[in-house]
Amino acid sequence: MTTGKINVSVENIFPLIKKFLYSDHEIFLRELVSNATDATLKLKHLTQIGEASVEYGNPVIEVKIDKENKTLHIIDQGLGMTADEVEKYINQVAFSGAEEFLDKYKDSAKDTGIIGHFGLGFYSAFMVAKKVEIITKSYKDEPAAHWVCDGSPEFTLEPSDKTDRGTEIILHIADDSEEFLEDHRISSLLTKYNKFMPVPIKFGTKTEQKAFGVGEEEKMEEIQVDNIINNTNPAWTKQPTELKDEDYESFYRELYPMQFEDPLFNIHLNVDYPFNLTGILYFPKLSRDLQIQKDKIQLYQNQVFVTDNVEGIVPEFLTMLRGVIDSPDIPLNVSRSYLQADGNVKKISNYITRKVSDKLKSLFNENREDFEKKWNDIKIVLEYGMLSEPKFYEKAGAFTLYPTVDDKFYTLEELKEKFKDNQTDKDGKLVVLYAQDKEAQHGYIESAKAKGYEVLLLDSPIISHLIQKLESDNENLQFVRVDSDHIDKLIQKDETAISKLSDEEQEKLKTAIQEVVPSTNYNVQLEAMDSDSAPFLITQPEFMRRMKEMSASGGGGMFGMGNFPEM
Ligand code: ADP
Ligand code: MG
Repeated sequence: MTTGKINVSVENIFPLIKKFLYSDHEIFLRELVSNATDATLKLKHLTQIGEASVEYGNPVIEVKIDKENKTLHIIDQGLGMTADEVEKYINQVAFSGAEEFLDKYKDSAKDTGIIGHFGLGFYSAFMVAKKVEIITKSYKDEPAAHWVCDGSPEFTLEPSDKTDRGTEIILHIADDSEEFLEDHRISSLLTKYNKFMPVPIKFGTKTEQKAFGVGEEEKMEEIQVDNIINNTNPAWTKQPTELKDEDYESFYRELYPMQFEDPLFNIHLNVDYPFNLTGILYFPKLSRDLQIQKDKIQLYQNQVFVTDNVEGIVPEFLTMLRGVIDSPDIPLNVSRSYLQADGNVKKISNYITRKVSDKLKSLFNENREDFEKKWNDIKIVLEYGMLSEPKFYEKAGAFTLYPTVDDKFYTLEELKEKFKDNQTDKDGKLVVLYAQDKEAQHGYIESAKAKGYEVLLLDSPIISHLIQKLESDNENLQFVRVDSDHIDKLIQKDETAISKLSDEEQEKLKTAIQEVVPSTNYNVQLEAMDSDSAPFLITQPEFMRRMKEMSASGGGGMFGMGNFPEM
């Protein structure tokens, strides 16, 4: 038996680990299962390149609770360690074996999906355990080893009689961490972090119905089978060509078992140069309450769940989407502000934006009718994107739609073309009439329609910001709400509407109405009394209303989504 002192620069690193390594103690399990996965994938690689002449088989990782002894076990059938390797990989804190492995097998091991690279993963066990044992047997023909450490820098290392290949980690759970001896706690942690890891993970057993016999003799019987908690081959790791619509939908259900609505469409991300990124994003049907729509994209690294806070990695307007992003190239041990400055992360974010706009464009081109049907469910995301991401704005013109109150849909170019004869003002500016509320502005809408104008229905909460932007980018374009006085100034094609009232009567009526209208900034406009539209309209200058609106909304903090760009 050897005893020794763990090679650390700080005299006792364990209290530090416990306190500072990860704020979240629960991630110890993710780290240990990751190591077990790494060990299994390393063996797979070594057998594939002929360096290990052992049977790879169908290795499973098992997580087991022993309530009586208050221990938690993580058992793998991976490559194992010799006593020397335990010395080297375990005793030298922060010496990351994964990194060494990848260095050594740089070219052949690039795509093995090996996870570890911080070198402190294993020691996170001490966040929840007062004593940790490793019993391990290497695939090499050498005796098994047994390492024990109680959380001080002292350890013991002796031979063990373990005969089967692989490693068992035994955690003697600390008194203040006994929650990790509960089945439901471990089960929910495994589901959270390891649901899509590449090696099967067994946690207990479950009952399954199985048919025995044939024909009339057939009987259903309950049998106990391994409870495998993960899908080792999730949709995003496959090629888009391998997947049908149903596959994307069933993967969506797997990600969000409690979500009943189908997603509107999906975007498969798949790139390996100049960075590595895979994933599937879904456009959900947005609910009215946009607040609850964030934190739905899950970030993975090599199929290990990392976080559902993708702020800084995904452009903000896309945090309203759902789905999965998997990239080993996102630095995780850094602050969010660093992330935003990181060149690689910026590239990833731009790539995602581009993929989303390409997909929207092709959906629009392939089936415009369907796109129009979905418009109301996706417009908030798109409009927000146009306002916050210049790169998205550039592309969005090709598929952004402007619906009319009669459910017709125009692109901006189509609008310009359509309105150029009938809806211009004296200066030759195109005047786009719009309503924000079909009910409340009904009278104005009808009156505009009676005059032969088309009225858009623009009812998003951020529409006034988008309008400002469109106007400043399109010199000859002006948006005017139907209840503004501007409608008077339009050049009318045919002036058929004639009032039944005499000029004198009209003047009297106007004065009478004006007396009860509160402000001098409103105008009273009499309509043709025999039309379907309102008999008179109270209007106000467009700029007056906008000024009021802008000062009321304060111009920022949309849906609590951070700072809105200055208009
Ligand atoms: P990393 O995973 O980043 O390399 P860890 O602290 O998690 O760092 O693990 C340190 C090293 O210990 C690993 O690189 C590996 O060589 C070894 N190791 C840990 N767990 C196992 C295991 N279950 N089987 C084989 N080797 C292991
Ligand atoms: Mg590790």
